[in-house]
Amino acid sequence: MFCFQCQEAAKGTGCTVKGMCGKEGSTADLQDLLIYNLKGIGVLAKKAKAAGVEMPGSTGNFVAKGLFTTITNANFNDESLNKWILDAQVVKKQLSAAVSDKIGADLPDCATWYSNDVSTFAAKAATVGILATENEDVRSLRELLILGLKGISAYADHAAGQLLPGV
Ligand code: SF4
Repeated sequence: MFCFQCQEAAKGTGCTVKGMCGKEGSTADLQDLLIYNLKGIGVLAKKAKAAGVEMPGSTGNFVAKGLFTTITNANFNDESLNKWILDAQVVKKQLSAAVSDKIGADLPDCATWYSNDVSTFAAKAATVGILATENEDVRSLRELLILGLKGISAYADHAAGQLLPGV
């Protein structure tokens, strides 16, 4: 695991074994894999929108709730996170099916990776976490954007007056 999303990060740099907040490494890794799949949804939705396909509001709502579920202390339940990852793949599949003739084949792995076997999630998660981006400047910018989106998503969910499912 590597998580540096809050002020409690170990040594002020990042939690690498277990979170100071109590988050287990397995949980942090599943959160990374969920975000990876949410990125895939974003890629597919952007391409679909560019092709003139209208996206249902439920797609954005799912991404916001998914990001919200990865903020500090929101959801440390691995079973719930496994379900989030499975559900995210369902959204990707639906998007792909709806726009397959418009988005072409040039898609990144986050948009095309699928697995219904939760026992494979840990191995995949180990390849898609924060440190998977080698360039520190690119990594920092990406994570800054993701953290900002997490905050926006938390407010969006509260504004919508909805509760997180599955927490
Ligand atoms: S959210 Fe938890 S694991 Fe992540 S930096 Fe904060 S204390 Fe560490």
